[in-house]
Amino acid sequence: MPTTLRAAAALFCNFWEVPTTPSKLVADPVGDPASAAPTAARLAELDRLITRCTACPRLVSWREEVAEVKRAAFRDEEYWGRPVPGFGPPDAAIGIVGLAPAAHGGNRTGRIFTGDRSGDVLFQALYDVGLASQPEAHHLDDGLELFRTRITAPVHCAPPANKPTPEERDTCRPWLVRELDLLRPTLRAVVVLGAFGWQALLPVLADAVWEVPRPRPKFGHEAHAQLRATDGGAPLHLLGCYHVSQQNTFTGKLTPAMLRGVLERAKELAGVR
Ligand code: SF4
Repeated sequence: MPTTLRAAAALFCNFWEVPTTPSKLVADPVGDPASAAPTAARLAELDRLITRCTACPRLVSWREEVAEVKRAAFRDEEYWGRPVPGFGPPDAAIGIVGLAPAAHGGNRTGRIFTGDRSGDVLFQALYDVGLASQPEAHHLDDGLELFRTRITAPVHCAPPANKPTPEERDTCRPWLVRELDLLRPTLRAVVVLGAFGWQALLPVLADAVWEVPRPRPKFGHEAHAQLRATDGGAPLHLLGCYHVSQQNTFTGKLTPAMLRGVLERAKELAGVR
């Protein structure tokens, strides 16, 4: 975008800040999630804003470098190379919160958990318990649908070594806060994949309408906490599940039966049949 046009836009939209790190792939950057996220009136609008985010210089550089260099097996593909929004319908009763997109998974395909081994395990289990239309996820146009379920992450860009910094996690937080706000009318249970997602999600829930007990509930596989809603609405059930990473699934720390068990429990608690 020409500098003059961006400057003019900034006069009308205070979140159109010039990004710290210029992006080669995002033509109309959003530089401040805290200002931009509350402006989204619908999930689809939020998702579009997220894909334009350039707030974290290190992650912008990394996601675009990965998209340019590519893995040999995908060298003929065009990588997404931008932030990856949540996936699933706006009337979701069950949320699934992971960590961040994978460099050659979501960062390649543009959909969370799509095109990587972790996603293979997750989507097979979602299909087995009736929450997905098919057991596989390959690319944005593969026809996959989720039923009453939305998958998202506390960090929307692929981080080096799968490790976002605390600052990057906090910068990305407003996107998840707004996503939970928009899902609030129907959301009844959240399955958190792994300890990082659990730690990242608790303050988001506390910022929203749910009371996080003190001491804070600890992460563990099949951990369960019921969070009272301060708006007088339905409580939220928080469920822990080991992450679907290869480190856990290849070693048998997380088996398909264990994953299905947590998803079935989430269905039951959320009243999804
Ligand atoms: S991690 Fe989140 S806040 Fe940072 S650039 Fe990506 S979408 Fe924006």
